[in-house]
Amino acid sequence: LNYRKAHFVTSAPTLKQCPPDNALEVAFAGRSNAGKSSALNALTGSSKLARTSKTPGRTQLINFFEIEENRYLVDLPGYGYAKVPEAMKIKWQKHLDDYLTNRESLAGVVLLVDIRHPMKEFDRMILQWSIESHMPLHILLTKADKLKSGVGKQALNKLKNEVKEHDQVTVQLFSSLKKTGVTELAHHLDTWLGV
Ligand code: GDP
Repeated sequence: LNYRKAHFVTSAPTLKQCPPDNALEVAFAGRSNAGKSSALNALTGSSKLARTSKTPGRTQLINFFEIEENRYLVDLPGYGYAKVPEAMKIKWQKHLDDYLTNRESLAGVVLLVDIRHPMKEFDRMILQWSIESHMPLHILLTKADKLKSGVGKQALNKLKNEVKEHDQVTVQLFSSLKKTGVTELAHHLDTWLGV
C-alpha cells in the first residue's frame, strides 16, 4: 500500500464511535513518548499526520487514518500520559481494552517500545494479550539511533529470543530520525492489510 496516501478521517472516544467495523486496520500502541507519532509520520511521509493526536484533548482518542478504501491505520491513545488525572487514565484503559478485544477489523497491532527502556509493564500486557488472543503483533524498538548499532542489535536479539515460540510476534529496529526500518514496517503492514 502507498502509506503516503494516509489522511486523517476521524477521532473516536469509544469503540461505539469508531467507523463501521467492516474494514482492515492496523493499530499503533505504545507508552507515551515511545515515538508513536514520529513513527506514523515517518511511515506516511507526513510531518504532521499524527500531530493532531497530541493536541490536548485528543490524546485520549482513537484516531483513524485512511490509506485507501477500507484500509486504515489507527493511532491508539498513548499509555501513561502524565498530565491527566488517574480516573481519566482508567477510563481510557477501558476504551482501549474494549477496542482491542472487540474490533473485528483489527488485523494486527504495532507496539512501539523505546529501545532504551524495552518491555515495561504496559508492553508486557500487550504482548501477553497478543499471545492469548493470537492477534499478530509487530514490535518496533524505536529510537534505535540512540544506541550504537551493536548494542541495538543485542537488544533486538534479546527480544527476538524471548518471543521466538510465538510465530505471530515479530520484532524490528526502527528510527524515525534516521528512517531506519520504515520499508520493513511497510512490508509487514502490507501482509496484514492483504495486499
Ligand atoms: P509519542 O508520544 O509516542 O507519540 O512520541 P513522539 O513521536 O512524540 O516522540 C517522543 C520524543 O521522542 C520526541 O521528543 C521525539 O522527537 C523523540 N523521538 C521520536 N522518534 C525518535 C527517533 O527515531 N530518534 C530519536 N533520537 N528521537 C526520537
